[in-house]
Amino acid sequence: MQLKNLINGEFVAPQSGTYLDNYDPARAEVYSQLPDSNELDVVLAVQAANKAFTKWSVTPVEARAQILYRIADLIEENLEKLAEAESRDVGKPLALARKVDIPRAAQNFRFFAGQILHHQEASTYAEGKALNYSLRQPVGVAGLISPWNLPLYLLTWKIAPALACGNTVVCKPSEVTPMTAFLLGEILQQANLPPGVCNIIFGRGEVAGRTLVEHPAVPLISFTGGTDTGAKIALAAAPQFKKLSLELGGKNANIVLKDADLKKAVQTSLRSSFLNQGQICLCGSRIYVQQDVYDAFMDQFVSETEKLVVGDPKDEKSFMGPLVSAAHLEKVQQAISQAQQEGGKILTGGQAPEGLPEELKSGYFLRPTVIADLSQCSTLHQEEIFGPVVTVQPFKYAHEAVKAANTSSYGLAASLWTQNLTQAHKLASQIQAGTVWVNTWMNRDLRMPFGGMKSSGLGREGGEHSIDFFTEQKTVCVGLE
Ligand code: NAD
Repeated sequence: MQLKNLINGEFVAPQSGTYLDNYDPARAEVYSQLPDSNELDVVLAVQAANKAFTKWSVTPVEARAQILYRIADLIEENLEKLAEAESRDVGKPLALARKVDIPRAAQNFRFFAGQILHHQEASTYAEGKALNYSLRQPVGVAGLISPWNLPLYLLTWKIAPALACGNTVVCKPSEVTPMTAFLLGEILQQANLPPGVCNIIFGRGEVAGRTLVEHPAVPLISFTGGTDTGAKIALAAAPQFKKLSLELGGKNANIVLKDADLKKAVQTSLRSSFLNQGQICLCGSRIYVQQDVYDAFMDQFVSETEKLVVGDPKDEKSFMGPLVSAAHLEKVQQAISQAQQEGGKILTGGQAPEGLPEELKSGYFLRPTVIADLSQCSTLHQEEIFGPVVTVQPFKYAHEAVKAANTSSYGLAASLWTQNLTQAHKLASQIQAGTVWVNTWMNRDLRMPFGGMKSSGLGREGGEHSIDFFTEQKTVCVGLE
């Protein structure tokens, strides 16, 4: 299967005629190809988006919202097809794609359709002298760049608010997992989204992505991906003063206090450590456990980790599939070796699973891995690995855990486990992270601000924050004297 770019409502081959291979990570085999788009493809997409902006930006919100609702319905109607595509492309369990990725993609469109319909702006009345009101207008052509771990979910998190606000967009999905973005293109056509309103360009970040970021007719960039890439994008966007939202890497702390509901903490920590093979920016990769309950927590956590089934993503029993690519597996394996050299002790995992069927033997599988005895400054404690690897450390007092959590250069999310809510509120306010979960994880309310502190990003999206980002605000002052 050869994917095509979506430009001006039509699927077109890349100008160069060259393609990149797309892998099924469970079988380590090429199963499709995607355009290796160059500068010209991006320029054509931006031109189409610019042309479409004239009409879309003044299309009434009711009409825009209606199309977004239709896209949401179509995503749900195609749930099975999209879930199978996402599972094969990323290696994520089919059950997870069915339950989380695809429903949340539909939810993004539905949520922002509602948001724009109910949006209100402030006005002030200055005692017979002036009436001020605030006008929100779309920014223009938005460049939307997304990563490989939650492909459809994260891309639609950008497309939906951008279109709701009246922008047109050029998307650059990850070259590692292009399939559901392509299928979304078909859905956009079926939903009768006007040509050019949403364009999708496939290809490498250094070529297609960079051109999009540098293009002078793209005044806004929403990027989700690695911190190093975010730094390059910030550098390229700064001289043109583009609006920029960066959702970057994480090294999230998961703090278990002695009064926690241990059973719940263990069960949720299994998910927060290893869901999607640990390839979620919000995964809690550093677990800190108060020493009074350290042994009890670890006994349960390690034995439950050993029970997790790693296997064919299509199999209902699989909790984990393969990692996304050979290169990523190698990076994670190197991090594990480095941890061992730095004194880390592997309590479980570190190897490929045994007993895989013949067809999966070359797949990029790795058992969930738990490592103890590392110092706070070890590489694994400081660098994002983005795989099924967690470190565990005991602590004596709660303030020590907060200090350890905050030593990271990242600040995306954290989890706290305690029955003492007074303590929870206090610690939550002290932790440097964009989101702090108390006795839960990955519980998202789309109305709330989402984003990271420090090296985890710039800006907030979600609810009104997305409306803020995807519009320019103007104050109009009418003199009354
Ligand atoms: P990545 O930075 O390698 O790539 C992300 C996207 O950027 C891809 O589409 C890629 O082609 C593109 N890109 C690469 N170089 C570019 C350049 N110079 N200019 C423009 N675009 C460029 O990230 P990844 O490996 O795909 O994803 C994993 C990373 O994403 C992890 O660090 C993870 O924490 C992060 N992430 C963050 C969030 C969040 O909400 N904060 C969510 C998911 C993933």
